[in-house]
Amino acid sequence: FGAAAAAFMGAGAASAQTATSGEVPKELAGKTAFITGGARGIGLASAEELARAGANIVLFDIATPNLPNVQYPLSTPDDLAAAQAAVEAHGVSCMTYRGDVRSLEDQQAAMQQAVDRFGSLDIVLANAGVSQVGPIESFSPEDIATVYDINVAGLIKTTQAAVPHLRDAGGGRLIYVSSGLGRVGNDLFPVYTSTKWAVIGFAKSAAVSYGRDNIMCNVVAPGLVRTPLADNEVVLRAMMPDAANPTFDDVSAFLEPFNPIPVGHLEVEDVAKSVMFFAGDATRNMTGEVLDVSYGSAARNIG
Ligand code: NAD
Repeated sequence: FGAAAAAFMGAGAASAQTATSGEVPKELAGKTAFITGGARGIGLASAEELARAGANIVLFDIATPNLPNVQYPLSTPDDLAAAQAAVEAHGVSCMTYRGDVRSLEDQQAAMQQAVDRFGSLDIVLANAGVSQVGPIESFSPEDIATVYDINVAGLIKTTQAAVPHLRDAGGGRLIYVSSGLGRVGNDLFPVYTSTKWAVIGFAKSAAVSYGRDNIMCNVVAPGLVRTPLADNEVVLRAMMPDAANPTFDDVSAFLEPFNPIPVGHLEVEDVAKSVMFFAGDATRNMTGEVLDVSYGSAARNIG
């Protein structure tokens, strides 16, 4: 274990750019982080957080606004280019790859390019996902297949593509994005909810599978976060059916009295800090854990 851990800690340090802050090397200097769904939202905020800690970044995103059977626009190619510039502003290198998590080949090709350029792959954030709102009987077979192919099968393929590289690095981190809805039942997002439970079951299985490879597999489960996945017309109307033109702030205000602390939602930076926790040295011996990142909403729902 000691040797494997040491190999992980040092992975890539010689070959990749080493960012420093005065005399003290940054925590993730020399490491490479691969982020699916990195063009905006939680993925981009996490990329920036890991970049601040010195990691080189790979942003993998479909960057295709109009995807069949998805209820709201996904990222654009311009979003992906802007995300790259935002990450590079932290003084690290950033490459982008326009690909679909539903394709194992896309992810394998992107990760190989990352290793060729940066020397190793050390941290993988399996974050790409789509929401889907509506009653159970409203979804077509194609709707159901799409949300499962992206949110569940896509993230399994992320793992399959990543593990050989993480092994080559002597170990690493797989961080999965589930949801507060991966812990409870919900009648507004019933199928999406089931995909987010699946994320946790798979992540725990990955933890059991790859512990001896020194690959730590953990989950962040955010509450409601202000991103286009939640802040879109279809979701807002479903959450406040009696309001004429509900905004995200209306929904937050509506939820506030139900929550233990007085915020109705999180911002992406809150989730990014938790991603950093599972990428950094503090969790070198933690695997199979699920961190609820909420404003107490998880306590209310579960307790
Ligand atoms: P977002 O829509 O802002 O970002 C998701 C990104 O994933 C987009 O850039 C999109 O283009 C990309 N993407 C979608 N399908 C893809 C595919 N097939 N291949 C590659 N990229 C793809 O959403 P977000 O809120 O940042 O969501 C990120 C993750 O957080 C998701 O897994 C989501 O389920 C989860 N989550 C979000 C919330 C919330 O309230 N926003 C709460 C809990 C969990």
